[in-house]
Parts: sequence; C-alpha cells; structure tokens
Amino acid sequence: MVKANYEYSQNLLGTIVSLTIYEANETAVKAVFATLKILEDKLTVNRPLSEVMSINMAAGKHAVEVSRPVFDLIAQALQISLQPNCYFNCAIGALVKLWQIGFKGQQVPTDEQIKQHLLLTNPRDIELNTDNHSIFLKRKGMQIDLGAIAKGYIADVIKEVLVKHNIHQAMINLGGNVLTIGDSPLSDDKNWHVGLKKPFSRNQELVGIINVNNRSVVTSGIYERFFYQHNHLYHHILNPFTGYPLDNELESVTIISKSSLEGDIYSTILYGLGVSKGCEFLQRHSNLAAIFLLKNKTIVLANTDNFYFQLLDKQYQVKQY
Ligand code: ADP
Ligand code: MG
Repeated sequence: MVKANYEYSQNLLGTIVSLTIYEANETAVKAVFATLKILEDKLTVNRPLSEVMSINMAAGKHAVEVSRPVFDLIAQALQISLQPNCYFNCAIGALVKLWQIGFKGQQVPTDEQIKQHLLLTNPRDIELNTDNHSIFLKRKGMQIDLGAIAKGYIADVIKEVLVKHNIHQAMINLGGNVLTIGDSPLSDDKNWHVGLKKPFSRNQELVGIINVNNRSVVTSGIYERFFYQHNHLYHHILNPFTGYPLDNELESVTIISKSSLEGDIYSTILYGLGVSKGCEFLQRHSNLAAIFLLKNKTIVLANTDNFYFQLLDKQYQVKQY
C-alpha cells in the first residue's frame, strides 16, 4: 500500500472541501482552490453578491446577463426542472429562503406562507435568452437555488482542472460529494473507499464502505441540515409540490455515476421518488447506481455493476433490488 502524496482541505462552499492527490504539484492544487473560489462566488445564494443573486435581485424587474458557465448550468437545471412530476426544481429558492433550514432563523412557516411562496417556484417563469446569456425571473420574489447541483457541477470542473494538470489519480470531496479520478494507488484492489455515513451519528460512524473507481459518489440525506419542532424533524430537501420537506421511508440516497453533476441531480430526485419508484426509474437508467438507506435500517442496492458495497454496521440489512 502506498500513501497519498498530498491531502489538502479548506473551508469552502459552506462545508469542508478536501483533496487527496497522488503525484500532486503545487500549481495544480493552487488552480483547484482558485477555481473553487471563483465558482462559489458565482453560484452562491448564501451571500448577497453572486451572479445567481444578481438574477434573483432583479426578479420581476429585468433580465441579467451572466457568464457562460452560470448560464449553461441554469439552462441544464431548468431543463430537468421542467420534466413532468420532477422532484428537482431549481426555482425553489423562495421556499428555501422561507424555511431557512440549517441557517439562523429556521422555522416552520404557516400553511398560508407556504401557499404564497409555492406560487413563486414555477420553473416556467424562468426566461433564458441564449443571444446574450441573460436570465429573467418573471415574478417578483422568485429565486433560483442551485444548492442541489452546485457541488456536483463544481466537482466535475475540478476534475477537468486536475486532468489538465496531468493528475490522473485523485479524490475530490466537497463535503460528502465525492468524485474519484482513475484508480486508487492507496489500496490493493485499486478502489477508492468512500464512507457511507450513519445518519444522525454523533461520532462520524459509517454504515459501510462504497468501493469505486473513476466514479462520483453523491449522497442526499435528511441528517445534514435539519431542525426539530414539536418532535417533528424538518430537513432541507423540500417537496416542490407541497412546499414541505419530503417525507418518506428514506434517510439518504447515494448515487454512483460518471459525472458528479448527474449524481447530485439524481440524489435529490431519487430521494423524492423513494425506494420503489426510484428502483423502477433505475431499471430504465443503467448508467446510474444507487444506495437507498431506509429508516427501518434496510439498505437497498440498485444497479451494482460499478461499485461494491461493504457493510460495516451489522444493525443494517442489505438487500439487492
Ligand atoms: P446536500 O445539500 O446535502 O448536498 P442536496 O443536493 O439534495 O443535498 O441539496 C439540497 C439543497 O438544494 C437545499 O439546501 C436547497 O438549497 C436546495 N433544494 C431543496 N429542495 C430542493 C428541490 N426539491 N429541488 C431543488 N433544490 C432543492
Ligand atoms: Mg443533490
């Protein structure tokens, strides 16, 4: 077993970002963190200034020209949001801001507030102009939120940066959003080992290890950002149809895919679909694999061609779909 040449981490994107690079060089690492900073500055909605915020502030007033990458990412997010019955909706920002889950001021809104804010989340009210790359939100108060895809998108860009710098073996971890490049030099079987977190565990326990190479591993779960009110748990993945947190049998969904953008999108969508509809969906999408972690301590694996799951916590029972 060889040790990784370099491990780097920084606090960015509201989380801890870490890189494990084999045969790293300083120029590559600098380029990675510079890129991370630039993209965070463009995409964040958690600070007053960013390209996405400038679109949101002009909602109901005028279109805003944005840079090509931001325009393309929103165009992709919009295309998915417009699919019928889709649980991913990039126009959900007004509701996210109303709930403030994971932030100071988090609260259960009134039914009336939810009803009003739902009116501001129709993706059809996002107007894209491909001539000048401008974006217009038709209703005042509307907000684009890329929280469910930004880390996936950024991980893919970081991979490109590393490959450009001739790095072909690395693991990018954007706060649980993991993208592995090439084979791992760290283990005999050449797989990268990605931990699957035990939900609500105080000491970072793992339920198991996901073994992959050259794949993205993205988890959406209800235990990362949540609060309790009257013994009810409210978490940060919202049902775009009701305006309340999605409520089903799942604690998390992990997607294993080639691109991390895909992984991030589908972890949110499959969380919304739940196990049985999710597995049906996966039968039609063999490029995606999934690990569903249920509240009843069952783990359901679907499309297991591209990964191997090793169970660590024997309280859980693994089933193959
Ligand atoms: P994580 O932030 O843990 O990676 P997700 O990728 O599922 O989890 O993204 C959740 C974030 O996406 C929320 O914090 C919010 O900003 C936004 N969001 C919440 N619900 C939805 C939804 N139904 N569609 C799109 N974005 C959402
Ligand atoms: Mg996501």
